Amino acid sequence: MSWRRLDEADPSGRRVFLRADLNVPLESGDVADDTRIRGVLPTIRRLLDSGASLVIASHLGRPDGRVVEGLSLAPVARRLSGLLELPVAVAPDCVGKRVSMMAASLTPGKILLLENLRFHEEEEKNDPDFAASLAGLADIYVNDAFGTCHRDHASMTGIPRVLGGGYAGLLLQRELETFERIAGNPDKPFTLLLGGAKVADKVLVVENLIEVADNILIGGGMAFTFLAALGHGVGRSVLEPDRVDLARNVIDRAGQSGVRLLLPLDVVVADSKERPETARTVSADSIPGDTCGLDIGPASVAAFSSVLLEESRTIVWNGPMGLFEVPPFDRGTVEMARALACATRERGATTIVGGGDSVRAVSEAGVEDQLSFISTGGGASLKLLQGKQLVAVRALSGE
Ligand code: AMP
Repeated sequence: MSWRRLDEADPSGRRVFLRADLNVPLESGDVADDTRIRGVLPTIRRLLDSGASLVIASHLGRPDGRVVEGLSLAPVARRLSGLLELPVAVAPDCVGKRVSMMAASLTPGKILLLENLRFHEEEEKNDPDFAASLAGLADIYVNDAFGTCHRDHASMTGIPRVLGGGYAGLLLQRELETFERIAGNPDKPFTLLLGGAKVADKVLVVENLIEVADNILIGGGMAFTFLAALGHGVGRSVLEPDRVDLARNVIDRAGQSGVRLLLPLDVVVADSKERPETARTVSADSIPGDTCGLDIGPASVAAFSSVLLEESRTIVWNGPMGLFEVPPFDRGTVEMARALACATRERGATTIVGGGDSVRAVSEAGVEDQLSFISTGGGASLKLLQGKQLVAVRALSGE
């Protein structure tokens, strides 16, 4: 996919509309975690250094087209101002006469943060008039909101349509380059570690990457549909009966392409997810009918870790290995996070993690600074791994 880098823009003396992802968690009216704000600082600094003025916009939470006081971007403006050590003006809205006047009076080096885009239902509906009003606030469009790039919203695709395209910010550039490298020319051997509950999403990833992958490791709820495809009973584990044929097809294709596909050897089962005290490990080919599988077992952890550590130069991970929100079913997921960290640190592997749950697991395991790349967008990174284009990235080319 062709897209324009920030380096190609000439923002000097111009007003830039920067679509950022400032959708941060708030607590008692303050920013509880400013990772996303910090993520966009390099792009903001680059634009200010090149003599631009900035109109920054984001969504926050799900106000569903209504003004919700608790979802105002005012606390974000305060934190952004503190991090930049510069004043950040807050607009009373994201469109309207007053906002236009505030934007028009910006001089180079000045920043205006618009109010929550999703206070207007027109944002998610991609209303052309709303997009035109937003576009009217600036001369150039820059997108640094990777996590929202699969959304066809006014601020994501509508504005660049009006302004004849736009540029990828530095954070978006890094995300796109990382995923383009994986699909095109990864360091081999290349291992895909997939988990989570939904089969369909991840099967599309396998289909897209089966030609470049050397190893595919499958854990999590989705593994039970694959075990069922091999003829094993899976008890009351999550199973997608109408995808069993699809799983069988993937197993066959992996065999034909010479890709090693590993499924769990053992499983941690329990009477139900509400009764973790009944947890015990069983072989994956003999799951008792009255139990559900909620994590991969220790033999699976050992087998997966061995591939990750001994036979992988590039590893992409998406999806937890079990019901990781409930201990002790988090063990397999945490062990995979540790194995990835070890592969990076001690074997020099390139490790990439995408998907909200896997990212959370990585941070719970305390290894987030030991991996090569942690994507800021779950849905968007999954789309890229599936080989799909992101609508908002396509819009940057002005099509
Ligand atoms: P996905 O959105 O498909 O990546 O699924 C993520 C969700 O799958 C997380 O909330 C996990 O708790 C859940 N999950 C993973 N493994 C299992 C399992 N064995 N049984 C039930 N839920 C699971």
